[in-house]
Amino acid sequence: MKSYQFSEYGQPLQPTDQETPTPQGDEVLVRIRACGVCHSDIHMWDGHFDLGSGRELDISRGRSLPFTLGHEIAGEVLAVGPTSAGVSIGARRVVFPWIGCGDCPVCDSDNEHLCPRPQALGTSVDGGFSDHVMVPHARYLFDYGDVPTELACTYACSGLTAYSALDKVRELAAGRTLVIIGAGGVGFAALRVAQALLDTELIVVDIDDTKLEAAKEGGAAHVFNANDEHAAKEIKKLTGGGSGAVIDFVGSETSANFGLKTLGNSGALVVVGLFGGALTVPLPVVVLKHITIRGSFLGSLEQMSELMQLVRSGKVPPIPLEPRPLAQVQQTLEDLRGGRVLGRVVLVP
Ligand SMILES: [Zn+2]
Ligand SMILES: [Zn+2]
Repeated sequence: MKSYQFSEYGQPLQPTDQETPTPQGDEVLVRIRACGVCHSDIHMWDGHFDLGSGRELDISRGRSLPFTLGHEIAGEVLAVGPTSAGVSIGARRVVFPWIGCGDCPVCDSDNEHLCPRPQALGTSVDGGFSDHVMVPHARYLFDYGDVPTELACTYACSGLTAYSALDKVRELAAGRTLVIIGAGGVGFAALRVAQALLDTELIVVDIDDTKLEAAKEGGAAHVFNANDEHAAKEIKKLTGGGSGAVIDFVGSETSANFGLKTLGNSGALVVVGLFGGALTVPLPVVVLKHITIRGSFLGSLEQMSELMQLVRSGKVPPIPLEPRPLAQVQQTLEDLRGGRVLGRVVLVP
């Protein structure tokens, strides 16, 4: 099998050739047909997150080098292990990559994606910037119906992350408004999934007018450029005192503060983006406005199942996609870091 791997953090990915593995036990070998490139691939490749004030969170442990990134994987089942059940050869499946140890209280409560001993594909074990991937069990594979493979793969991370965040504000946003900050890959996915999941007015905020234009065409009732100094005030006016919920897909000091300013009483700010930075909030505001500030990271196997059901029903409109050959992975990571990507680049081996 051919993969693109890095041997040192921050150094360019190189093509490698290895013997294609044979599935053992419950394992399923998937021939990859598409793999989305996610912003977190850049963090994994860097080996750290920015925590603000010059501090960094080291995320280089628990991964042996050389390593294959890529966690938005879809393709066909090529071979199954002797005890595998639930999927047949040739089936087209999207892979839930957020696999846990399977033997801890977190995993037992259907939160494998939060397991302290993760075995996740493309972040802990070799992933999808390759032509093959080994999946430990068929239960991590989801039928994507008639959806194009290049689109289906994006539901494993950007789609699931969006769904999980939206799931947390379903009740708060109902009958009020939802503000989505950041119209990049995950933000745009949220705009699309929200139209299938919620009955609420959607407001999208970004600092890039091209992305705002796309969001407007993509179903946002209103769009605002955060660099406009009156934007937060106008959103408050528009929502009659503030929105029911804000989902921040940027996760910077500026974006989270902007979100707080547009939040109405008893609303929730859900931070999803991992741009980095720190947040200072006056505590009386938290109390008197009765607000919730919480994080949302990826999504559970159960949420993936719910999302894929919604997707197969045809209710989720697609996100903008740009398929590229797998060999352009390095250029793609650089384009993504430079903010030069609209929607999702999907690598095709
Ligand atoms: Zn991702
Ligand atoms: Zn676990």
